[in-house]
Amino acid sequence: MDEALARAWIAAAADAIRADAEHLTDLDTAIGDGDHGVNLRRGFDAVTAALGSFEAESAGDVLGKTGTTLLSKVGGASGPLYGTVFRALGKTLRGGGTFAEGLQAALDGIKQLGKAEVGDKTMVDALTPAVEAYAAAAQDGEEAAAQAAAKAAKTGAASTVQLQARKGRASYLGPRSVGHPDPGATSTALILQALADVTGDGA
Ligand code: ADP
Ligand code: MG
Repeated sequence: MDEALARAWIAAAADAIRADAEHLTDLDTAIGDGDHGVNLRRGFDAVTAALGSFEAESAGDVLGKTGTTLLSKVGGASGPLYGTVFRALGKTLRGGGTFAEGLQAALDGIKQLGKAEVGDKTMVDALTPAVEAYAAAAQDGEEAAAQAAAKAAKTGAASTVQLQARKGRASYLGPRSVGHPDPGATSTALILQALADVTGDGA
């Protein structure tokens, strides 16, 4: 990934979050406290502003800056979690690692921070299959890998509907959390779809 693609991804992710902020908040109203879309929109607005004046030398710089901005501007559970995702991606790319390795580091980071596993009805349920799908398709090129990751994340997010939440605010609802998609898994799928949308665009 080069700097232009990283910038295009974050811009597309910010657009997707803005477009779906109300939907994400509705999902969080059903099983949380109704702030997920608002939180992420505030965060990505801050990221857009921060990147506008940021002189990056690489994709890693862009993604690292995205992470530190999300960490400082987004409250709740999702700020530190998404901050961790983008900081891990940035750090891995800056260190010469591949994007597939960066995604794995991002997943490791949120699991370490939030202690969630697959099946707990969190963003881990979308990110885990996406990381696997990206790695499996990486040999076919960036575009194919991004598309595979987006598809897997979407399926993973859909799988959360039937799950009972065991982490985060939704876990307070116990069995009443079943029947609703997890907001964070849904936003993870959006962010990875944004990557698929811009990859191979010549962006
Ligand atoms: P808050 O729950 O503090 O209001 P948000 O509403 O912004 O924060 O984000 C909620 C999302 O955060 C959940 O839908 C879930 O995907 C994710 N989440 C919450 N706790 C955890 C955790 N321990 N590990 C992974 N993801 C989590
Ligand atoms: Mg919330």
